[in-house]
Amino acid sequence: MTSWESEGDRGSYHMSPDEFRRYGHDVVEWVANYMETVSERPVVSTVEPGSIRMKLPAAAPEHPESFEEILRDLDDIVMPGITHWQSPGWFGYFPANTSPPSILGELVSAGLGVQGMLWATSPAATEVEEVVADWLVELLGLPEGWKTTGPGGGVIQMSASDSTHTALVVARERAGVDIGRMVAYASEQAHSSIEKGARVAGFGHTRFVPVDEEFAMRPDALKAAIESDVADGLIPVVVVCAVGTTGTTAVDPVRAVGEIARLHGLWHHVDAAYAGTAMICPEFRHHQNGLDFVDSYTFNPHKWMFTNFDCSLFYVADRAPLLEALSILPPYLLNKATESGQVIDYRDWHVPLGRRFRALKLWFVLRSYGVAGLRHHVREHVALAAGLAEQIEQHPQLELVAPTPFGLVSFRHIDGDIATDALAMEINNSGWAYVTPSKLDGRSFIRVSIGQTNTTAEHVDRLWEMIEASS
Ligand SMILES: *Cc1c(COP(=O)(O)O)cnc(C)c1O
Repeated sequence: MTSWESEGDRGSYHMSPDEFRRYGHDVVEWVANYMETVSERPVVSTVEPGSIRMKLPAAAPEHPESFEEILRDLDDIVMPGITHWQSPGWFGYFPANTSPPSILGELVSAGLGVQGMLWATSPAATEVEEVVADWLVELLGLPEGWKTTGPGGGVIQMSASDSTHTALVVARERAGVDIGRMVAYASEQAHSSIEKGARVAGFGHTRFVPVDEEFAMRPDALKAAIESDVADGLIPVVVVCAVGTTGTTAVDPVRAVGEIARLHGLWHHVDAAYAGTAMICPEFRHHQNGLDFVDSYTFNPHKWMFTNFDCSLFYVADRAPLLEALSILPPYLLNKATESGQVIDYRDWHVPLGRRFRALKLWFVLRSYGVAGLRHHVREHVALAAGLAEQIEQHPQLELVAPTPFGLVSFRHIDGDIATDALAMEINNSGWAYVTPSKLDGRSFIRVSIGQTNTTAEHVDRLWEMIEASS
């Protein structure tokens, strides 16, 4: 007996492959059951703060517990505190979809447990990721040069926030001037991740450019802001365009902003976190015209593309400045493949070193749905949103507050904030649907985001009936 072995020590505490097989089947059964019943569950958890914690012991168990006990507590303790993002009545925020092939890809990735920081640490992890990133260049109508076989390339990051932060760091490094004088630009409707990314990247200044009546960035206002900053001795470095803002899915004019960026030597990053998925349908691609004047681009398959979190694509038109900004080669990572210059080492494409095999679930999804399947569901969601928008427009007590280019419907009650807030609360208190109450120019409105994996006409009709009955 070695010193750490106490009396009663079992020698090994690992679950055997046979036990794993048994409990694994139980867990797959559990998840399948969840899929079948999620639509019957109240969408939003209504537990009080601390109530889940109260049911859990303060310390980890000293001795192993049975898997049956663990699964029982999953049902009894955890489930009451779950908000059901996978409910077809989920109209909140944006979707955070999952799907059976994605879950299975995630399971295999966990089973393999590889670290894909270098090509050499698991070649397939890198090469499958390259291939799915290249496939998506075609699928989204992105410039050919953004493929990993060209000067650019795509990489999977954890989130659009990370992708945007990375873009801001590359822009900063490329500019190579005093960061206190550097300015980043985005619209007043830009996602908070732009401001956070600029702060983390150390930008001295961030400007929020005014928007037009459809909440898209005004190029004339961008130009004026740049000129005024230059006159004040500051250095414009980067501008971020949104294709589909979080507030109302407004689309900034990518081409016009790109022309200004080029004229003033700015890095141009596009944040299409949510709406990027729509670009698999050619009819939406006019919203991102002008990508030839874009340096980097991000979109999240983990929102609308039936691929569970985390999975955010980050593309660069030219990977040289990215690698220059982020490559550091310590001696313990030296290897022949890296030295040959013939492989991609994705550790150089973002902040983390270690990286999961996230491409696997995306590969499973793309193959299992096929492009036709993805287009079918995206088009269905967008058509449902258009239908709901039309019903709202024709209702005398309701009004749209923004266009509906994708799956988000933004509207309010004409009686004002109190009536709008009450309507949102009524919907959310119903238990079977959830919408996001929000504010635009200080006035209340309701965001109905249609795009959950299993949302169909039946669910949107039911939502409309409730809106109508309460307006
Ligand atoms: C959701 C969203 C983000 C943030 O995405 P994360 O992956 O959660 O960081 C950024 N920008 C836009 C426009 C979004 O809709």
